[in-house]
Amino acid sequence: MGQVSRIVVVGGGQAGGQAVDSLRREGFDGEVLLVTAEDQPPYQRPPLSKDYLAGRTGLDRVLLRPAEFYAESSIELLTGTRAASIDPGAHRVELATGRTLDYDRLLLATGSRVRRLDGMPGAHLEGVLYLRTVEDSDRIRAAMDSAERLVVVGGGYIGLEVASVAVEAGLAVTVVETLPRLLSRVATSELAAYYAELHRGRGVDLRLGSAVAGFRDDGSGAVGSVALADGSEIAANLVVAGIGIEPVTDLARAAGIDCENGIAVDSGCRTSAPDVFAAGDCTSHPNAFFGRRVRLESVPNAMDQGRVAAAAMLGADRVYESEPWFWSDQHGVRLQMAGLSEGADRTVLRGAYGDESFIAFHLRDGVLIGVDAVNSVREFIFCRRLVAARARPDPDALADASVPVRTLLPAR
Ligand code: ADP
Repeated sequence: MGQVSRIVVVGGGQAGGQAVDSLRREGFDGEVLLVTAEDQPPYQRPPLSKDYLAGRTGLDRVLLRPAEFYAESSIELLTGTRAASIDPGAHRVELATGRTLDYDRLLLATGSRVRRLDGMPGAHLEGVLYLRTVEDSDRIRAAMDSAERLVVVGGGYIGLEVASVAVEAGLAVTVVETLPRLLSRVATSELAAYYAELHRGRGVDLRLGSAVAGFRDDGSGAVGSVALADGSEIAANLVVAGIGIEPVTDLARAAGIDCENGIAVDSGCRTSAPDVFAAGDCTSHPNAFFGRRVRLESVPNAMDQGRVAAAAMLGADRVYESEPWFWSDQHGVRLQMAGLSEGADRTVLRGAYGDESFIAFHLRDGVLIGVDAVNSVREFIFCRRLVAARARPDPDALADASVPVRTLLPAR
């Protein structure tokens, strides 16, 4: 391992932001540069479709570290700056400005971009919006102030969280989802049905199994309605599409770095190119929990990989082996998920779908592989530990709300 005196991080999302912080915490005192196309220092994205969108929290509260942190930690923060290309052989990054940065170690934390509806008629109309950045969230918030009717395209977590905030703000909301149920990527059909009921109960019009055909002009260049494939039309002066994200792998691909559903990294966040590492949404990694290579679109994954990559860039043999977990807020209901429900052969319920709070425990061959916890914030901490421990809890105890989940943890 050659001497490391300068580390460049490309991408200022949560993975990149965590990595530069971790480099200093690990005691690295060489040069650290963080290159980010965004105009803000790294911030948390989850609030952008929740409290931040609702106007309940401000930008200062969603920043990953206070704005002063970077100067105080001698981290050179290049905001509004794009990396144009990387040359792993020369150990060099070229910025869009033409400036070049030599590095000893490079971290790609380029994140994801939203899928867009660009090919669809009317997709360019004013009022057809997407949610990824602080500016996107600000734009949607401002549009909600004057819009009366919102159509959300996509019944995933982003779309449903936006629907929830908009209903609370007094808009009439329709969610259009191509598949016959909500949340098909990451929730069981029972949980999806619970969410469908929750949204309908708050007045959201759910159009499941419906495809959007295009957007019609209101006569002023703004969206006036959404046309569905079945010929029907929904009036709307605001459309938010939450139809998924894709990993940003352009720099890596152009440099010949292996990509496989994202930039392929090993358990130490190393890519196929020497001294080039990658972390967060843009990567796929071999995951012991899933037993295969996966790409996770989640904040805990970004933070954990950011930490592992920082240590690995400094030569430590740290291995990333976290279990996936995730959360969502909709209509005042907090959902937290750990592990994976896919592949379960048995589900044990503590409470029932629709209760004020309930937990679904998913087991395979007696091993707890996943948990969906609704309004059970304190118990969830122990649910996560149970999943991480690959525990074989007694199903009767799981179902019994009088048994604290903590007591089911295997003795260490
Ligand atoms: P996100 O993180 O943006 O919520 P997900 O992949 O979890 O992304 O959910 C996106 C949802 O959007 C999926 O349920 C998918 O079926 C749906 N979807 C994708 N394309 C369309 C479309 N053109 N019209 C309606 N729904 C769509």
